[in-house]
Amino acid sequence: MFNDKKYKYVAYYAIGVTIIILILNYVLTDIKTQDIKYSEFLKMINDKQIQEVQITKDKIIIQPKQTSAENKKILYTANLNDRNLVDSLNTAGIPYGGIIQDDNPVKNFITGWILPIAIFMLLGRFLFGFLDKKMGSGVMSFGKNTAKIYGENETGKTFADVAGQEEAKESLVEIVDFLHNSKKYVEIGARLPKGALLVGPPGTGKTLLAKAVAGEAKVPFFSISGSGFVEMFVGMGAARVRDLFKQAEEKAPCIIFIDEIDAIGKSRENNMSGNDEREQTLNQLLAEMDGFDSSKGVVILAATNRPEVLDKALLRPGRFDRRVIVDRPDLKGREAILRVHAKGVKIAENVDLLSIAKGTPGAVGADLANIVNEAALRAVKNSRSVVIQEDLEDAIEVIIAGKEKKDRILSDKEKRQVAFHEVGHALTAAFLKNTDPVHKITIVPRTMGALGYTMQLPEEEKYLVTREEMMDEVTVLLGGRSAEEVEFNSISTGASNDIEKATQTARNMVTVYGMSDRFDMMGLENPSSRYLDGRPVRNCSEQTSTIIDEETLSIIKYAHEKAVKILNENRKLLTSIAERLIDKETLTGEEFMLMVKDYKESCQ
Ligand code: ADP
Ligand code: MG
Ligand code: ZN
Repeated sequence: MFNDKKYKYVAYYAIGVTIIILILNYVLTDIKTQDIKYSEFLKMINDKQIQEVQITKDKIIIQPKQTSAENKKILYTANLNDRNLVDSLNTAGIPYGGIIQDDNPVKNFITGWILPIAIFMLLGRFLFGFLDKKMGSGVMSFGKNTAKIYGENETGKTFADVAGQEEAKESLVEIVDFLHNSKKYVEIGARLPKGALLVGPPGTGKTLLAKAVAGEAKVPFFSISGSGFVEMFVGMGAARVRDLFKQAEEKAPCIIFIDEIDAIGKSRENNMSGNDEREQTLNQLLAEMDGFDSSKGVVILAATNRPEVLDKALLRPGRFDRRVIVDRPDLKGREAILRVHAKGVKIAENVDLLSIAKGTPGAVGADLANIVNEAALRAVKNSRSVVIQEDLEDAIEVIIAGKEKKDRILSDKEKRQVAFHEVGHALTAAFLKNTDPVHKITIVPRTMGALGYTMQLPEEEKYLVTREEMMDEVTVLLGGRSAEEVEFNSISTGASNDIEKATQTARNMVTVYGMSDRFDMMGLENPSSRYLDGRPVRNCSEQTSTIIDEETLSIIKYAHEKAVKILNENRKLLTSIAERLIDKETLTGEEFMLMVKDYKESCQ
């Protein structure tokens, strides 16, 4: 591993030292000595201003008479090998002499070689020692592990900092208990778990949980990131693993935490390029995990958001035999997480965190932490000293849709198109039964690319989605483009995202959820990656997949027709709401529903 940072430090140091030496040299020589011309020197001899002269091979050093106050400096001039110099000095009566060049070879060798080398070595030791302390590892530490060791409570995190992950916390408490009271477990004959794998989508607090374990467990805690093992040189990673386990066994009972273990633990199967280094590291890890005796009290925690790419060998019993699922928080969990983070900022008393939690379905801990921070920033921007509800609500939008992009000017025609599109979504949602209420419609462009959007929010947390709800969801997604057709009889590129989502939902209805009559409850796809959007694995023949496409298409067509029908039947309402939106740029859910209600009443 070449750590550029260290080399940078060395370079800075060298430059600094050089500059200081130069300055010192300049200042010192300037204070004590002064260069003069040879002619001036001769003049001084004639004027008898000289006390004494010393002649060296290339310099003449002149000690002036101490008469005048200004001339206290020692003067020197170049030795021109002037043959008359000695005569003139004699006649002027100035004492003179030379300096004997030291020809002692031993002494020369010492001053010329040994001394500088010694100085360099001392300097180097001092410098690297200093860096060592600063970076926590040796400069030349190839193959040495870079795991950070936390003492008790050094991470500053405890389980209280992790909200909404009660089950995960429970499993980890148990593991911590194994370490504290390993005797109890050994006596009864229970085999201690060797390792636990924290699994969950990014940002749900896996790393945070591990840090909290470090804070709670009163044992040493080695923390290292999986990518820290993957080295430039083949074999280094393996050496690191060996070293880490050796250290851990010495310090047992203790915990080893490997964050982002997928960096090393990737399945060796479908790996075309073949990463020798990673494979060796993985093999070493497997060997070490088998080799150590868990009754000694070493527990390995690892975290990943891609359990499906991990090598099967890592997951088999006796290695990471426990999985701790760290899933997306539900409503209560989100509220609790918001509460934890709200503690860190000044927040108005009447702020309703529950409603914020309601407005963020699907958000993970990292998003929520971000929302609170974004709200605090907004409060400062509006020169307020506390965060109010509005800040938090605005922050949700910033996190979900990006910041408002005020400098993007839409032409009037485009604005009209976007407004009808968004109202199309909102109206289909309002006229269908199994949909979430509209929370907000806006045509203010956002930095994340949306020209406008319609926000729907579920009234309560949903864990099951019915077929009717999915159908209506597809219809609402297609409502935007349908409105463009109804109003302008022309279509734009603005619906690509809607189309993608609608198609995916329709497809899932057919292949994953068994919601089509044609295939009944046949599973046709395996989602290969639960958390990241990896490609699903098809579980059927070519012919069947053609039929899947047909089924998907028929759902889309049905939904599209339904949306167009709704919008055509309520064309007047569509136009009036769209005009209002163009005027105001943002409509709240209430304003929107009020218009819909008035219209419905006037129709009766
Ligand atoms: P992961 O490792 O799962 O990707 P992190 O642990 O790095 O996620 O979480 C990132 C940040 O999000 C944390 O530092 C914390 O501020 C916040 N966070 C995530 N989950 C939670 C939670 N359950 N409770 C409180 N804060 C959380
Ligand atoms: Mg992490
Ligand atoms: Zn849309």
